[in-house]
Amino acid sequence: MAKNTTNIDDLLAANERRATGGICSIGVALAAVDAPTRAKLQAALDDRARFAHNGLANVFGALGVEVGEHAVQRHRNGRCKCPT
Ligand SMILES: [Zn+2]
Repeated sequence: MAKNTTNIDDLLAANERRATGGICSIGVALAAVDAPTRAKLQAALDDRARFAHNGLANVFGALGVEVGEHAVQRHRNGRCKCPT
């Protein structure tokens, strides 16, 4: 058997699931703005009839937080780690 120089412990450690700190990029963005802005953004997140995922991704982008529409979708659907 060929000598394997790869350290399996290092290899596994380098490929662990990244800790996210418990909230997604949307949660981070919401935490970074002031309370009135957060309330408006939260209302927009709750208003699916008025705001599409990509529309809100544009809004967050304009606020300086680059998020993808899928991040918006995950957050809206509760499939992220943000507390609900
Ligand atoms: Zn989230």
